[in-house]
Amino acid sequence: MDQTSLTDIKTVRDVDVSGKKVLVRVDFNIPLDKSGHITDDTRIRAALPTIRYLIDHNARVILVSHLGRPDGKVVESQRLTPVADRLTQLLGKPVVKAPDCMGPEVEAMVSGMQAGDVILLENVRFYPEEEANVREFARKLASLADIYVNDAFGTAHRAHASTVGVAEFLPAVAGFLMEKEVVTIGRALEAPARPFVAIIGGAKISSKIGVITNLLEKVDYLLIGGGMANTFLKAEGYAIGKSLVEDQQIDLAKDLILRGDEKLVLPVDVVVADRLDATANFKAVDVEAVPPDWIIVDIGPRTVQKFKDIVDKAKTVVWNGPMGVFEIPPFAQGTRAIAEALAESNTISIIGGGESVAAVEQMGLADKITHVSTGGGATLELLEGRVLPGVAVLVRK
Ligand code: ADP
Ligand code: MG
Repeated sequence: MDQTSLTDIKTVRDVDVSGKKVLVRVDFNIPLDKSGHITDDTRIRAALPTIRYLIDHNARVILVSHLGRPDGKVVESQRLTPVADRLTQLLGKPVVKAPDCMGPEVEAMVSGMQAGDVILLENVRFYPEEEANVREFARKLASLADIYVNDAFGTAHRAHASTVGVAEFLPAVAGFLMEKEVVTIGRALEAPARPFVAIIGGAKISSKIGVITNLLEKVDYLLIGGGMANTFLKAEGYAIGKSLVEDQQIDLAKDLILRGDEKLVLPVDVVVADRLDATANFKAVDVEAVPPDWIIVDIGPRTVQKFKDIVDKAKTVVWNGPMGVFEIPPFAQGTRAIAEALAESNTISIIGGGESVAAVEQMGLADKITHVSTGGGATLELLEGRVLPGVAVLVRK
């Protein structure tokens, strides 16, 4: 299946859910502290639009999720009970937590549901058949419902029973979170408003090879920052001191520089530090002048300006990977400047990736970005041009 099918997936709006039992795969894989309290409910909130829509349209809502990695057995601390409690608060109506995700007791609970009721099935990864995507397990899960909705974008790159297997047995459509993620990113990749610019940073080239090669074919400019820029700089012949580098990737970097030609934009200056901590000495230097024994920790001010000039003309910008070691405040300036440039511009801006998203949220700029993606691995796989298994099984318009 090719990328052109990304933007025309059917959603909950395209099916009649009234009175129907709807199995909704959500991503409630939230962080819990030692005493079992939810420390961040972002993922629960992200699923609310779909759940509310289904309640308002008189569906019987059966939620299914994983939590953590129980590895196919019951782990008491990974039950979804705290999630059901939080959901009860957020929805302002009782959400019953089922003791299991299938079996006679759950079937009885489901057949007792009224229109607009919501139940949350127990952690689906308590069964090894979930991650193994065992057909019979998927069939049993599907047998609880009439329609399947996948709203778990963050898990859509996994071919599990509750993300892929069930779609064989039920009409499968996207929820609103899934739709927003897949259609926003899909449109940017398939038919971007141009100039289309990608900004790629983060620690290592090796974890982003697929993203860089896929985007290089689609964009007008590909700006490289972060630790991975060091390997490109070394490939260009610059001395990079004690900076993080992947020597095994230098040939790849050379090849990308050749292929990228004018499109590929590397830093012209960098911030270097004598240690990797907040009390280090640091200064901006041109890429020709990195002192031996120093470490590149951020892009420099001339590079920031160069990147900003390109971003200012862009109509679509996709950004993955911080420009520097932003966790250490003095080395966050490049990342902050790029985040601010995106926040201030009128371009369609899409940010994905664990640390990149954390950075813009920490800087308080997330609400000025067109789309801050909720998926880590799933987002990267979309940017690599891969077809997510959980999206491939959804019905097309
Ligand atoms: P994302 O999670 O957004 O995809 P990555 O996981 O690829 O991003 O990379 C994030 C990490 O890259 C951050 O923890 C950051 O400290 C690190 N990083 C950025 N620039 C450098 C650098 N110059 N040297 C070492 N590490 C860096
Ligand atoms: Mg990361």
